[in-house]
Amino acid sequence: MPLYLDDEAIETFVYKEVAVALWAIHLHVEDVAVTPALALRLIRQYLLPLIPPEHWHVLNQKQPVTWNRIWMISSELASVLGRSNDPLLFEVGNAIELIHSHTTRPPREYTFATVIEVTYFLSMCGQLKIPVQSQIRPDREQRIDPFNFCSLCWRQPLPGRKLCTHHAPGTPLLAEGTDKRAAAARYKSGVRQKEQFDKAVNRILTKEVTEFHEGLFTPVVLLPEQGIAAWVAERRPLLWQLLGERQQEFNDGNAVGMLLDLLHSADGLPAKAQQM
Ligand SMILES: [Zn+2]
Repeated sequence: MPLYLDDEAIETFVYKEVAVALWAIHLHVEDVAVTPALALRLIRQYLLPLIPPEHWHVLNQKQPVTWNRIWMISSELASVLGRSNDPLLFEVGNAIELIHSHTTRPPREYTFATVIEVTYFLSMCGQLKIPVQSQIRPDREQRIDPFNFCSLCWRQPLPGRKLCTHHAPGTPLLAEGTDKRAAAARYKSGVRQKEQFDKAVNRILTKEVTEFHEGLFTPVVLLPEQGIAAWVAERRPLLWQLLGERQQEFNDGNAVGMLLDLLHSADGLPAKAQQM
């Protein structure tokens, strides 16, 4: 799998040095299979020198090298660009994206191993050295994954399904006596609101990822252990509103429990999942 790029694609780069780097990588992998590790090595060898040293950390993180990781690097450079507005950096990010996509045919698409906000969340935790994944990601037997969400909302999906109990139209997993027409209506309404929901999530995500990078990786965007009420009131005002009178009793000790009560229903989930 060499780098499948024609001359024309490479020549469209405004910065000669980026085009030259891509040419070099192109020649280097002419007859070899490009693994993610090789791609990253070549990116570091040829493209890293074009980036100002203050951004080298984006390329030097100690994380398992996968194709998704390579894609994340190009998107992290894009978010760095948000504050530096450096067109050269933009082209380097573009070049990395091309290396990600064009080392196979048809071009590789970014595969959302998981939803994008989880990818960013894990990436932030990685940068803050908070060991999350191994601690929270459960084994299969528990049949619940806190990082898995209904395609239409934030709730836990039914086992083996993409939808939650609230949004799944008629399924044998739903509790007896569930009104099927009401379930179908909730599903349709969820589909109608999906675009708006995704946009809202993206808006918050973009804002907070930018803030995370601009704040030089301070954890302010993550739910804190202390001062949760103030954090929710400031950063999730609609959620804060939704708490209504319960705002009074909301404190660091009960915050997580109250939010789970408010936002999640364990109805229809397996007993083990309910326990969790
Ligand atoms: Zn749902």
